[in-house]
This record gives sequence, C-alpha cells and structure tokens, in this order.
Amino acid sequence: MYLRKRYGESRIDGCPFCGKPSTSKNSQGVPVCIAHKKLLLDGLRCVCGSFLDVMAGKWGAYCRCPKCGNVNFKRALEMNPNLLKPQVPKPQKSSEKKKEVVIRSDELHLYY
Ligand SMILES: [Zn+2]
Ligand SMILES: [Zn+2]
Repeated sequence: MYLRKRYGESRIDGCPFCGKPSTSKNSQGVPVCIAHKKLLLDGLRCVCGSFLDVMAGKWGAYCRCPKCGNVNFKRALEMNPNLLKPQVPKPQKSSEKKKEVVIRSDELHLYY
C-alpha cells in the first residue's frame, strides 16, 4: 500500500491569515478559512518592490509580478510577513522583579 501523491492539493498549508485549515476560498481564489473568507490579500510586494497581483491558478493561488513574472504564492507570503500578521507590540518584561539587595551596616563593615 502506498499513498498516492496528489500534486497541487497537498501543498496548501492553510489559511494565510491564521494558518487554520483552509476550507474556503476568497474572491481571489486564495484558500482561506471560513472566518477570513472575505479578506483579500492586498498590497503584497515582490522582492523587487513591485506590487504583486494575486491570481487564482489551476493549482491554487499564485502571484504575479509585472517585472519578475509568476511568484510562488507561499513565497510571496513569506516576503510579506507583516501584511498578514499585524505587528503586536511585545509586552515588556516586567515580571522580572528586581531582587532587593539589602546590605546591613554590620555586613558592610566586613568589606572594609
Ligand atoms: Zn483564517
Ligand atoms: Zn518582482
């Protein structure tokens, strides 16, 4: 028994917005989860700086750069990590409490 590889279908990792299994598609043909069905991928930029067009192809979504041609969809997402995951300011580490060092005068005396 062996598993037959189904090219083009097993490559989809999930919703590009949240990573959940993509059970739906948005109007661009991008596989997304139901919660993000109405979201569009806008403003993806290529490495060359041009804006990418999101296209729906036979094997799923891909991107198209006016200068570079077709760009792998997954790669386009990797090039635009900030677009999909809004930057959340990192919480400052305030949990580390400063250890109070109390030096008593009689201990201080020992250092002399
Ligand atoms: Zn999603
Ligand atoms: Zn390009």
